[in-house]
Amino acid sequence: MAYRTVNPFNNEVVKEYPFATDDELQAALATGHDLYETMKKQDISERAKILHNVADKLRDHEDELARACTIDMGKLIGESRGEVELVALIADWFADHGEELLKPEKIDTIATGDAEIQHHATGVVMMVEPWNFPYYQIMRVFAPNFMVGNPMILKHAANTPTSAQMFADVVAEAGAPKGSLTNLFLSYDQVTEAIEDPRVQGVALTGSERGGTAVAGAAGKNLKKNTMELGGMDPFIVLGDANMDDVNDIAWRARIYNTGQVCTSSKRFIVMDNVYDEFVENLKQKFDQLKPGDPLDPKTSLAPMNTKKSKDKLQKQLDEAIANGAKVVYGNEPIDLPGQFFKPTILTDIDKDNPAYKTELFGPIACVYKVHSEQEAIDLANDNPYGLGGIVFAGDANHGAEVASQIETGMVFVNNFMSTLPELPFGGVKLSGYGREMSHIGQMAFVNEQLIVKTDKPNMDNLAGGLVAVDPAE
Ligand code: NAP
Repeated sequence: MAYRTVNPFNNEVVKEYPFATDDELQAALATGHDLYETMKKQDISERAKILHNVADKLRDHEDELARACTIDMGKLIGESRGEVELVALIADWFADHGEELLKPEKIDTIATGDAEIQHHATGVVMMVEPWNFPYYQIMRVFAPNFMVGNPMILKHAANTPTSAQMFADVVAEAGAPKGSLTNLFLSYDQVTEAIEDPRVQGVALTGSERGGTAVAGAAGKNLKKNTMELGGMDPFIVLGDANMDDVNDIAWRARIYNTGQVCTSSKRFIVMDNVYDEFVENLKQKFDQLKPGDPLDPKTSLAPMNTKKSKDKLQKQLDEAIANGAKVVYGNEPIDLPGQFFKPTILTDIDKDNPAYKTELFGPIACVYKVHSEQEAIDLANDNPYGLGGIVFAGDANHGAEVASQIETGMVFVNNFMSTLPELPFGGVKLSGYGREMSHIGQMAFVNEQLIVKTDKPNMDNLAGGLVAVDPAE
């Protein structure tokens, strides 16, 4: 697909970008590899300073960056600003903590000598990112790998090229050496070509199962370490004793934030029978208060979806869900504006054989299920191919945490909105992918954990199991 910024509020084609040439890809690989060799010898504290500069420059350019993001993919301007602030925070966190996290780790061992694990860079990382958080998705990979000393090549989504280039420009303006982050408008074949190249030693993708399967396939075929951050159908469980004021305040936000186009949006509301009617009624009221309009206008509360293609796909999925017996409690009506608006919709009565039961609906559709016991809620939450995140609302937070630990996902928040912060690991299980971004775990995604054992004199007496050649003279 061609790289184009098309404003989803008014369908204006703002700018088109040509595909990268093969020479540009080869030049990026060569520059990246040279930088890897240079950064091996550089003191990590120099990179920490540059990463703090990146954070400062992001804050300096917040207005332009937020505007570009909103025009690229339609999110509300306030949410775009929040995203820029978050990515600056992530850059600062890795700049502050990267050096400590990457220090050698001593190991207690019976082996003769001192053992430690050192953390080294491995080479160029190829990152493939989606449009839904144009800056945040890049930063989750960029900040930890810049600290490690892994240069990066970025292939961003076809519909967010302006944001991608602006992010790379900010990194360069902050003083990061050439090759630290090279944004290229690559074709799928060129992504594969990069993955096949021996100078690339890591592959990170955030996106759909479709994109993940293709990119992880190429990485697997070439034995390249990779992380996959894929889709989700996160459950939002409401137990019978939950504080309903809190639930009612959070539930609609958990579905509507970023127009419902978040991997960790609450896509399945699993609600105990005694509070079900109140829950549905409140969700209806909240959805009804949303005002569609220009996402650049701070008064707008319902933004368009990111592209016509996404909107058409969601409508098709909704039609299919209804044809298979789902009941529309609210929504499924057109919005009389030229942009890619989708009326928030509530579905109930989704049977197990309805495609909506196991398909990610990536937009403002809330699927609500009534359950009669806590065990039924847990079983329903786990009866799903995805395992990314989730929310549990319970009268007692400790009990909520007991329920949370029985849910087969990578992250669960109890009695709160799901949030993402640099110190918290992000990622899932099952079809939601593998590996973690952010936090001390994300810091290690593409490092060589090299074992060094040193001693002044060999001594083979304490080798467990006698794993040593037998001396024929003895
Ligand atoms: P997508 O189609 O997989 O696209 C994501 C990225 O992969 C884009 O840059 C896309 O490029 C690229 N891509 C797709 N197929 C490729 C291939 N065969 N070779 C190389 N690159 C390829 O995902 P999406 O539908 O736009 O994004 C939404 C999905 O991402 C949802 O499922 C959502 O849940 C998931 N997501 C997950 C997380 C997480 O952290 N777990 C976070 C956000 C979103 P083009 O744009 O050029 O096609």
